[in-house]
Amino acid sequence: MNAPDPRPKARRARGLQDRRGPGLAVERGLIEAIAKVYEDWGFEPLETPAFEYADALGKFLPDQDRPNEGVFAFEDDDDQWLALRYDLTAPLARFVAENFDTLPKPYRRWAAGPVWRNEKPGPGRYREFWQCDADTVGSASPAADAEMIAMACAALEAAGARKGDYTVRISTRRLLDGLLENLGVGQADPRRLTVLRAIDKLDRLSSKGVQALLGVGRKDESGDFTQGAGLDDAAINRVMGFLSTGGDRAGTIQKLGEFVSGPIAEAGLRELGVIDSALSALKVGAEAWVDPAVVRGLEYYTGAVFEAELIGALDAEGDSIRFGSVGGGGRYDDLIARFRGERIPATGFSIGVSRLAAALQAQQAAQADGPVVVLVMDQARIGEALAMANELRAGGVRAEAYLGGGAMKAQLKYADKRAAPVAIIQGGDELAKGVVTLKDLKLGARIAQNLGEDREAYAKSREQVQREVPRAGLVAAVREVLAKT
Ligand code: AMP
Repeated sequence: MNAPDPRPKARRARGLQDRRGPGLAVERGLIEAIAKVYEDWGFEPLETPAFEYADALGKFLPDQDRPNEGVFAFEDDDDQWLALRYDLTAPLARFVAENFDTLPKPYRRWAAGPVWRNEKPGPGRYREFWQCDADTVGSASPAADAEMIAMACAALEAAGARKGDYTVRISTRRLLDGLLENLGVGQADPRRLTVLRAIDKLDRLSSKGVQALLGVGRKDESGDFTQGAGLDDAAINRVMGFLSTGGDRAGTIQKLGEFVSGPIAEAGLRELGVIDSALSALKVGAEAWVDPAVVRGLEYYTGAVFEAELIGALDAEGDSIRFGSVGGGGRYDDLIARFRGERIPATGFSIGVSRLAAALQAQQAAQADGPVVVLVMDQARIGEALAMANELRAGGVRAEAYLGGGAMKAQLKYADKRAAPVAIIQGGDELAKGVVTLKDLKLGARIAQNLGEDREAYAKSREQVQREVPRAGLVAAVREVLAKT
């Protein structure tokens, strides 16, 4: 029998990361940039311990299937349970309740640090990760929520995301509460959680999947069946109509009134109206929009909820590539009341630093330009295409001639797949005239995205996207286009 190996195996536990060198420097840089924004907006720093009494943190995580309901907890030698913090908000609530009398009100604080969640690890989902938060405690005004949203935009931009590279989706729990009440699904109704979970899955499942979960249930690809909420067709249609309303803030708020009624929903719509005006005053535009499908997992939210994500270049279907939620927040008016009895309204926003660093990197990679592609219109003249690619390279431009066997359409598709900023075309007509056609593929993609189905306007935009330049001026013309993008 072999003796047991006396040496432990060096292995990192699941869902945890070693962070070092340049990757770590990037995360630290992000925290510094975000913290600077929080400080500029008048938030003061606060550090609280990594663990707290478990009852002080409470049980608000959505993942209830794990040991200790998602938190890492241990029993102290005085028989009291301690738990590692799963976010920076629950410790803030404890801190405010304990120091309420001496704090300025509203109290504005920012914090950064690691948090621990006993979740099932997966891509971008760790059991230890850093968050960087800002919270305003002691203000019931939706203007405080708007400030969080505006500051989230400023923080993402300070972290390196450009306008148009991110969105912040906004809703309020009151809208969902109002909708559920309209459907006859009250606070204590067991179907409530099933409906909310179905809505929360709109991102991952098609609307057909969500419809199934609102109705009898859904069988997934593996054959597993998830019991549905059992709503009737009229109720399902109402939920789906509600969920598909979204976009420009003021217009959406007005339109949502068609799907919900009653005092709770109306209070929610008024709340969103004030947030909208405050955001406009803060010069926040279409990057923050109303999307009633935002649910947010944490159970302590009572009012406005918001979620930030990065969006990237277009995928093969012409949809924006999404990189997952990089931050989220909302209003939690009852969290401090757990300690004090009296309600202390509060709102905050949390940026997932590790997720943001990974998403920014993936976004930059997705947006990085490929080489200029010189198409080959006539195989007999392939040498001319090779020569053009060579000239471009000599002029400092990354370039290649197309060496596959495809026709023009396939060649342009290849150029798209390679993220080529420009395609060069020289057919017989161009050859006779001594010119080449230069196609600005990035401008073409942007125009296609904005025009949608408007074919006529699209045809007109062809002149901007495609132009002839003298063959001798090829390199200079390409460099001019590249400099603009
Ligand atoms: P939450 O505290 O759940 O509202 O999450 C706020 C942000 O933290 C999210 O938008 C993510 O960026 C990040 N986050 C949440 N859970 C994880 C996780 N398990 N691993 C990495 N980042 C996370």
